[in-house]
Amino acid sequence: MTSLLQTLSCADDYDPESLGAERARQLILDLVEPLSGSERIALRESLGRVLAEDVISPHDVPGHDNSAMDGYALRFADLAAEGETALRIAGTTFAGRAFAGRLGPGECVRIMTGGVIPAGADTVVIQEIVRAEDDRIFVPPKQRMGQNVRRAGEDLRAGSPAIRAGKRLRPAELGLIASIGIGEVAVRRRPRVAFFSTGDELASIGTPLKEGEVYDSNRYTLHGMLARLDCEIVDLGVVRDEPAALEAAFRQASEADAIVTSGGVSVGEADFIRGLMAKLGEVAFWKIAMRPGRPMAFGRIGNSWLFGLPGNPVAVMVTFYEFVREALLRLSGVDPVEPLPRFRLPCVSALKKRPGRSEFQRGVVFNDNGEWKVRATASQGSGVLSSMSEANCFIAIEEARGNVEPGERVDVQPFDGMV
Ligand code: AMP
Ligand code: MG
Repeated sequence: MTSLLQTLSCADDYDPESLGAERARQLILDLVEPLSGSERIALRESLGRVLAEDVISPHDVPGHDNSAMDGYALRFADLAAEGETALRIAGTTFAGRAFAGRLGPGECVRIMTGGVIPAGADTVVIQEIVRAEDDRIFVPPKQRMGQNVRRAGEDLRAGSPAIRAGKRLRPAELGLIASIGIGEVAVRRRPRVAFFSTGDELASIGTPLKEGEVYDSNRYTLHGMLARLDCEIVDLGVVRDEPAALEAAFRQASEADAIVTSGGVSVGEADFIRGLMAKLGEVAFWKIAMRPGRPMAFGRIGNSWLFGLPGNPVAVMVTFYEFVREALLRLSGVDPVEPLPRFRLPCVSALKKRPGRSEFQRGVVFNDNGEWKVRATASQGSGVLSSMSEANCFIAIEEARGNVEPGERVDVQPFDGMV
């Protein structure tokens, strides 16, 4: 069997010492495959889960031709080409209460939105354009055959897939599945993701800080990011930079489907963490041409995918969103896996940027008198988590680009729905 590291080194323009961000993203996605296993759960519990099977519509939706508006259902053939047509109101149909009879020549039926189009009728005129007098209405000319009628099966056809396997369920899908009367769905097993922070300087909240210590924030951002992706979370806490403690943590973590660690992958760091990762599994150490997030480890320990993220709090979030997010979606069975969307907007700030690496600066998309623009957050330090909190997007600047002058257009990746 070809090893992971051999596979990686065979890839085109693979240089672990300088890997483009897009290349790294692609390498990870090419290797990771969906997990097996599924379960049937109640529709209400399925938000955020991934469909394991197509959902087939057992009947047409809507089940009957019905009115899109409040007005009168009529026979188009009765309408005169020129001038008004008088029609007799033969009855009323409400949503959920149909008109029993069949429409005869010269007749119409008062109809409400969602009401079933009575037999014989084919067209609805809206009430606003009709003149009503006692039991008659007068319809102006120039109506269209079939107007304001929602056709049976227009939304979904009986026997055809309403939603395909691989879709991650959002509120719209919950409603769509309910609309065909289905209350249980087959969803993929959620990936189990173990994570821990490494560093002798880290203190857990609840203990007072000693000199030189910082509170472990990465585990909280990771917790939040993993929860948003609907992963099953195994929090292994803070692990000291000690070989025995780290080895035990990695062994325990490797029972999960994926491991996410923060810290310990930069070259200056205690080298034994890298050594340990390499000893326990097949792990590549990458220097990615990006900022923040240059050092990163990727590989396998046992049956588990390893993402060794840098320690800096902002770098953790950037590398998670650019690399780990899509890999976890693929593991979850999402198909197709889409990268975060990018939009191009004018940037009002001057941005310092060196060509030769991608940058993910923190930005705020805002509305400037009706025009959407982006500005940079006050601080751009990769340790400054408040910049992530202030931001609502990344400003993603292409590798080849240099400084950005105010007014130039830049790519933004909005956070909404992702963070
Ligand atoms: P490292 O990658 O381990 O060299 O860490 C880089 C920087 O990130 C150092 O300033 C660390 O103190 C900080 N850091 C590492 N891990 C954490 C964490 N879990 N929470 C907050 N800061 C961290
Ligand atoms: Mg460290």
